[in-house]
Amino acid sequence: YDDRDGKIWMDGTLTDWRDANVHVLTHAMHYASSVFEGERCYNGKIFKSREHSERLHYSAKCLDFEVPYTVDELEAAKQSVLAANGLTDAYVRAIAWRGAGEDMGVASKKNPVRVAIAAWEWGNYYGDAKFKGAKLDIAKWKRPSPETAPSLAKAAGLYMICTMSKHAAEAKGCSDAMMFDYRGYVAEATGANIFFVKNGEVHTPLPDCFLNGLTRQTVIGMLNDRQIKVIERHIMPEELEGFEQCWLTGTAAEVTPVGQIGDYNFEVGAITREMSDSYEKLVRA
Ligand code: PMP
Repeated sequence: YDDRDGKIWMDGTLTDWRDANVHVLTHAMHYASSVFEGERCYNGKIFKSREHSERLHYSAKCLDFEVPYTVDELEAAKQSVLAANGLTDAYVRAIAWRGAGEDMGVASKKNPVRVAIAAWEWGNYYGDAKFKGAKLDIAKWKRPSPETAPSLAKAAGLYMICTMSKHAAEAKGCSDAMMFDYRGYVAEATGANIFFVKNGEVHTPLPDCFLNGLTRQTVIGMLNDRQIKVIERHIMPEELEGFEQCWLTGTAAEVTPVGQIGDYNFEVGAITREMSDSYEKLVRA
């Protein structure tokens, strides 16, 4: 995947895809000093583009560094990457990290902060689960407390347990894993937020130790517009049995119905379909 044509924006310059490399002594590779964004461009427009750039800045601050480009500069950079690759419908990945330099220990104040933005075509994150309903495993790893990690940042280090959980899920024939948090409450999937329906009302975990996704916020807005009650609260594992519908939200996942979590089954019901279809319309509007 690294040896192909195309352009990647790197530290202010459109670089040939195959030359967009970093040194092995990159601080981020050793100590996870890296933050990133996942965005989707629809019909030439990145959905919530500015919010993603702002979140990249916020995540970097959580990790005690500054992105050396303003939000406006990042916005222009993203457009240049899409144009250079001739893309109108694409996934956009921005990443900022502490590079190689004098500091090769835990501290890294002297190393340059670097930024790259790539874009490529990416279809449904969960393949045909988007229509049938995804099957989720239950992860053994727990989302950490905000006192243990910068839980609200989109930071690479937080994904170590996500990759392990997703691999374990795939080995069991599942598309993803649902994770509990450090207190045992339902949290989210490895790269998407989660919603449930019971008696016509929507329940979703409080995002107090994981990302309050932009898609999550968008879907809550869509539910409010339709006067469908949304209850953000702590959800206990034993409540899974009583929920009728379930879906995931995320930039990559969009709105994906969930058919199964462990031994619990959900129907791909009316509210799920409505959210999935309406989100699709909204992002392309
Ligand atoms: N949680 C995690 C762990 C994620 O990686 C993502 C995807 N960025 C989300 C939630 C959803 O966030 P968003 O809707 O902003 O893409």
